[in-house]
Amino acid sequence: MPRVSAYPMVRVDEALEAILAHAQPLGHETIGLTQARGRILAKNVLADDDLPGMPRSSVDGYAVIAGDDAADFDVLEEVTAGRLAHTQVSPGTAVRIMTGGTLPRGADAVVMVEEVDETNGRAILQHRPRRGENVHPPGMDLTRGQHVLSAGMRIGAAEVGLLATVGCAQVPVFRRPTVAVLATGDELVEPDQTPPPGSVRDSNRYALMAAAEDAGARVTWHGHALDDEAALERAMRQGLDAADVLLTSGGVSMGTRDLIKPLLDKMATIHFGRVSFKPGKPLTFATTADGTLAFGLPGFPVSSLVTFEVFVRPALLKLGGAANVMRPRVEVVLGHEIRPDPVRPEYQRATVTWEDHHFVARTTGLQSSSRLLSIVGANALLELSPGDNPLPKGTMVQALLLANL
Ligand code: AMP
Ligand code: MG
Repeated sequence: MPRVSAYPMVRVDEALEAILAHAQPLGHETIGLTQARGRILAKNVLADDDLPGMPRSSVDGYAVIAGDDAADFDVLEEVTAGRLAHTQVSPGTAVRIMTGGTLPRGADAVVMVEEVDETNGRAILQHRPRRGENVHPPGMDLTRGQHVLSAGMRIGAAEVGLLATVGCAQVPVFRRPTVAVLATGDELVEPDQTPPPGSVRDSNRYALMAAAEDAGARVTWHGHALDDEAALERAMRQGLDAADVLLTSGGVSMGTRDLIKPLLDKMATIHFGRVSFKPGKPLTFATTADGTLAFGLPGFPVSSLVTFEVFVRPALLKLGGAANVMRPRVEVVLGHEIRPDPVRPEYQRATVTWEDHHFVARTTGLQSSSRLLSIVGANALLELSPGDNPLPKGTMVQALLLANL
C-alpha cells in the first residue's frame, strides 16, 4: 500500500476553477409553459407589447375628467374589465368603471366608489381627483421590446407568470444534464436488506441521486459495483456512456481496494485527485475525450454529499445553463465555540437562524464524515479556515446557505 499520494493537493478555489472550466452549457430545447418551472431559460425574453395597452382603472369607481367642477355627474354607462365604453366622457358626465376596465375616451381620472354617491344615474363626488388618479397609464408594467427575462435565469413562479404575460407559451430552456451514479464497495447491501456483520446499507447512491435531481439534473443510470477491477471498469464505462456526468462513490482513498483513480486515469484525464478540503480530501475530477465529466466522490456518506454540494452542484448548474451556480454566501456569528481543522479548510454543517439582527450558526453536533445526521436539517455550511486555536462563541465566519432560512 503506497503511503504518499501521487496527486498534488489543490485548493478549493483551484478545484472549482478546473471543474467550471470543463462544464460548458449543453444544448437548448423548447418546452410548454406548464413544464417550465425549475428549468433554466436559454434565451432572453422581450415584452411583445405595452402592458397595459391602454389606460386602465386600478379601482372600482367613476371615470371623470380631472378638474371638472360639476355639482353632480350624469352616469353614462358601466365599463367592466375586458369591455370598452361606447360613449365619451365630457364635462358633467362620468362612466361607472370596474378595476381593470379601460378608461373611456375623454376621462383622465377615476374616483373610488367609496367616495361617490350615485342615485338615479347621477353621481355626487366627495373627492375631486387629480389628473391620472387611480389610472394605470399604458406601458406602466411593461413596455414593448423591454428585456424582461435573461438567459440563464431559473424559472420560478414569477418567471412563469411573466412568460405567460408576454405570450411565451413555448419556452426555450437548456437541456438538463444527465447523471449516472455508481456506488462501489464489497461491503454494500441494498436498503431493503439487513446488512450482515461488516456490511452497511448503500446510502450514497440514493442520496447522490436525490442531490443530482435537486440540482436540476436527470439521473439516467445508477448501479453498484464490487471492489473488483474488471467489474468496476465495466460499470464505470456503462455510467460514462449513459450520462453527461458520472458520479462514483467510494474507492478513491489510499487503500488496496481503492481502484477508482487508476481506472479513471485509464479512461479519462484526471484534473485533480486530492483537494485541501474537509470532509472529502480524496475527491477526484476527470473528463473523457468526448467531454463527459467524472467525479470520484469519497465513500463516507457525509464526505460524498458535502463534496457533491461544494464541487458537483455548481458543475451540474453550469452544464444546465444557469448563470448563477454558487450558493449565497453570508457572514454568520458562531453560537458556540468551534474547533477548526489544523490543516484543511473545513465545511461544517450548521443551522443558521436570525437572532438579534444577526445570523447565528450552531453546528449539527458531531461532524464525523460517516454521520449523515450531521447534514440532516442543516441549512448552511460554515467555511472554516484552518487553525490551531478554537474559534470562540461570537466569532464571525463565512457560510454557504443551502436552503431557505
Ligand atoms: P471507501 O472510500 O470506499 O473506503 O469508503 C469509506 C467508507 O464509506 C466505507 O467503509 C463505508 O463505510 C462507507 N461507504 C462507502 N460507500 C458507501 C455507500 N454507497 N453508502 C454508505 N456508505 C458507504
Ligand atoms: Mg470502498
